[in-house]
Amino acid sequence: MVKGRRAIGLMGGTFNPIHYGHLVAAEAARDAFDLDQVIFIPSGQPPHKSEVFVANPEHRYLMTFLAIVSNQRFEIARVEIDRSGPSYTSDTLSYFNSVDSTVAWYFITGADAILDIVTWHDPESIFRHAQLIAASRPGYSLKKIQALERQLGPESIARVHPLEVPALAISSSQIRERLKQGLSIKYLVPEAVEHYIAKNHVYGALKA
Ligand code: ATP
Ligand code: MG
Repeated sequence: MVKGRRAIGLMGGTFNPIHYGHLVAAEAARDAFDLDQVIFIPSGQPPHKSEVFVANPEHRYLMTFLAIVSNQRFEIARVEIDRSGPSYTSDTLSYFNSVDSTVAWYFITGADAILDIVTWHDPESIFRHAQLIAASRPGYSLKKIQALERQLGPESIARVHPLEVPALAISSSQIRERLKQGLSIKYLVPEAVEHYIAKNHVYGALKA
């Protein structure tokens, strides 16, 4: 296949902490859409998460870096961490488009996040600047995407691509809860992330 434009995936998240669910979804999207790379973008100050404990951005950046470093096609960007104020995906996608408008940008989300997208800041701008890959996630149905058509219109919905990915019922909330209870997080996150959390007490005093 002769490929024209470069295609790059953008995987946004709080990554509080990053886990195998994020990595599997990103790799499945890279493979299915023949993406040249996937850039992980840890959020700065997440606009939706004021009620939960969010580890300091530098810890989340370093954990994400440790998780992706061994994949040749995974990269990480500090754009949201270095921007002051709330991290809006619309600003991030507009930023990447201004860096290179010849690239086909794909924003990767899980099935839960895609259904929320209408509540995010400036959804029209999100759809203008990227196509969306909606990865399946245990507990959430990709079938509900069709219901977004009423709110977003047919043009936007045509830019959403559902993708079945290997099902991993892992969430960062569950990992934080396990850490709080002194339970193991082995095999839920990459080993380097597990060690980083323990060494730096990212989520309090933890089991090693
Ligand atoms: P939290 O429980 O704190 O919300 P999370 O596990 O949902 O954490 P986020 O950082 O909120 O992780 O998610 C970043 C992106 O990754 C979102 O688009 C989310 O839908 C997707 N995602 C997270 N976990 C999975 C998973 N297990 N399978 C598929 N997609 C996932
Ligand atoms: Mg989440």
